[in-house]
Amino acid sequence: MPIVRVAINIPVDTLFDYQTVDATPDDIGLRVSVPFGKKKVVGIIIAISDTTQIDTGKLKPVCSIYRETKPLPASLLELFRFCSEYYHHPLGMVILNSLPAAMRCNKAIQIKKPASNLSFELTPAGKQIDRSVIPARNRVARRLFSAFLESAALTETQIKQISPRANQWLPEWLHRGWIAAKQAPADTSATVTGSIPILTAEQAAAVNAITAGLQQFNIWLLHGITGSGKTEVYLRSIEPVLAQGKQTLVLIPEINLTPQLEKIFRSRFAATPIVSLHSGLNDSERLSGWTQAQSGAAKIILGTRLAVFTPLPDLGLIIVDEEQDSSFKQQDGLRYSARDMAIFRARQHAVTVILGSATPSLESYYNALNGRYHTLRLQSRAVRNAGLPSIHLIDTRIHKMQDGLTEPLINAIGRCLIEKNQSLVFINRRGYAPVLLCKSCGWSAACQRCSSRLVVHLRDKQLSCHHCGHQESFPRACPHCGNQDLAPFGQGTQRVEDALTSNFPAARILRIDRDSTRRKNAWHDMLQAIHGHQIDILIGTQLLSKGHDFPNLALVGIVSADNSLYSTDFRASERLFTQLMQVAGRAGRAQIAGTVLIQTEFPNHPLYQALQHHDYDGLAQILLSERKAAGFPPYVFQALLRGEAHDLNPVLNFLHQAIKLAKPPEAVELFDPVPAQMHRLKGLERAQLLIQSTSRKQLQAFLTEWCVQIHALTNHKVRWTLDVDPLEF
Ligand code: ADP
Ligand code: ZN
Ligand code: ZN
Repeated sequence: MPIVRVAINIPVDTLFDYQTVDATPDDIGLRVSVPFGKKKVVGIIIAISDTTQIDTGKLKPVCSIYRETKPLPASLLELFRFCSEYYHHPLGMVILNSLPAAMRCNKAIQIKKPASNLSFELTPAGKQIDRSVIPARNRVARRLFSAFLESAALTETQIKQISPRANQWLPEWLHRGWIAAKQAPADTSATVTGSIPILTAEQAAAVNAITAGLQQFNIWLLHGITGSGKTEVYLRSIEPVLAQGKQTLVLIPEINLTPQLEKIFRSRFAATPIVSLHSGLNDSERLSGWTQAQSGAAKIILGTRLAVFTPLPDLGLIIVDEEQDSSFKQQDGLRYSARDMAIFRARQHAVTVILGSATPSLESYYNALNGRYHTLRLQSRAVRNAGLPSIHLIDTRIHKMQDGLTEPLINAIGRCLIEKNQSLVFINRRGYAPVLLCKSCGWSAACQRCSSRLVVHLRDKQLSCHHCGHQESFPRACPHCGNQDLAPFGQGTQRVEDALTSNFPAARILRIDRDSTRRKNAWHDMLQAIHGHQIDILIGTQLLSKGHDFPNLALVGIVSADNSLYSTDFRASERLFTQLMQVAGRAGRAQIAGTVLIQTEFPNHPLYQALQHHDYDGLAQILLSERKAAGFPPYVFQALLRGEAHDLNPVLNFLHQAIKLAKPPEAVELFDPVPAQMHRLKGLERAQLLIQSTSRKQLQAFLTEWCVQIHALTNHKVRWTLDVDPLEF
């Protein structure tokens, strides 16, 4: 009797064996229902075997094998196995967490039939019909008929684009023999609606280089300044992939960017089935997109990080847009990097992967410098005559601030208003002020559950913790000294909004942050208002900085950026630079010349100097040499063992115990346990220990062995995780 080896969603890294009568090797990768303890759970068949370590008398039988979906392909299982080994996370959890929710339930799933790919064309008889037999009042019918006359065949999607109601005429015309239906050809080569721009010389060179090597594993770093037209390079690189009937996976950092990108892709590739996969979908939408990808029907799969685990039988190209974005790294559970998994997949399938960015991560930049990645540069803006914005620094030691704004910035916004251009004030902190301060004794409101201050939300008279969500009302007096003179200190988006409103009472001002975009559709409505030029001044956090194209934006003001200059996090400068380059890049993207004003106390800081000169390479060189001197990534590989518990001591004890177990080779270095930067979060004390090595291989070998030993430690009440290639400390 065959034995199936099953991965299930529990935090133990073993497979479980079950008996079955009817499994064959073709069933590897199928979902299966098995008894586990007193319950029945869903798992994935990983292997079929004739032998088992378990006493066969004790083997339980499988409850059922779910055959309504195709099995996960072997290459995907290989990716999961790699991911499980590299991040030291149980295979069952890796697999199950990557599947759509419906597939994680222990029951059969119903798959909706995807839209048919029928297309319609005029019959010889239909071609003889004079359009005037259709009554003039049936305008949609006439338009549809004209469209048939102009093209060989129309797909259902194209017919819907003529009018959502156009398809109501199909049954009648089929019946009359005017048109005939046929299965659309599997070749979904690009059908273009809207105009295609002529590539700039740089874009053309990039497209040529990429498309010449599509059939093999290549990593391209597409390093193009903001507005250089990276999207167009993606589109042209996808064309030959579609022509071969293959699939393209496009990973993007931010769910908010999907509608915009989806629109661009759909209008360029009107006849191509495109699905998007992100956390904003409901379970059945996600399942439907996933199965269309798995069947090979969907040719373009656009998604956020989790989409990297989608089965793609005909994978032909992978694109990772904004590759430096930290959202590609999951920060809980399986702490994987979707960018790195994308590279693994590209190698697996021998296809090309494009990593696009205006400010590549130092890791990728370094890989390009030493030849592991090929580089393609786009150094000028794609739209003719659109230059890079001019960047000026406002020294806040000279120009005093009122509610966070200096006079030169206010004046510049005023001029923008007169010229009827849009301006944007960027401040990466929501709320009214980051601190509530007692003017008499210096007390400040802090979260009881986190080592953080409470943020003042003046509108709802609440103090709120942005780490754990805790809220409380304003204290009437200082709990420390009784003084009633409590004042908000520092700036947040709401305070800047208030200040701008009082400076420019007639201006149409819009604040975009996580608070103002919470309502469903809020984001969509706001973008429309901005594009419709119904907004004069925007105030926004980093939500606004990524990827959006605002053609009327002439001025960007940057407020309170200095905070991150002297952070203890060695990646803070890199992140700040990226963020400011991105937000500065919003200005002057179309016909308007852009200006960026940065308020700072440190105008001579190398970061601002590099920014002012649009000098990514200059700053990257400085940061790389700092990293090299300090022994930080990309010159070393890191892992972080984190622990958390109600008290700090058990956590530190646990980490010390872990160190005692460790027998690292010489190339692997273990540091002393230390409290985390945010040592208290959501009521738990946190500490961590850093492991680092110049050899990724040795680090991995050490971690594999060490993890088993740490798992065997049981006399502690510490929750621990291992984070490989950590981004946050
Ligand atoms: P990036 O992602 O590199 O910041 P985008 O892809 O958003 O830049 O392109 C910026 C703008 O340039 C868009 O409005 C796009 O339509 C336009 N564009 C791209 N390529 C061309 C081109 N070859 N000619 C004219 N306009 C272009
Ligand atoms: Zn006080
Ligand atoms: Zn808190």
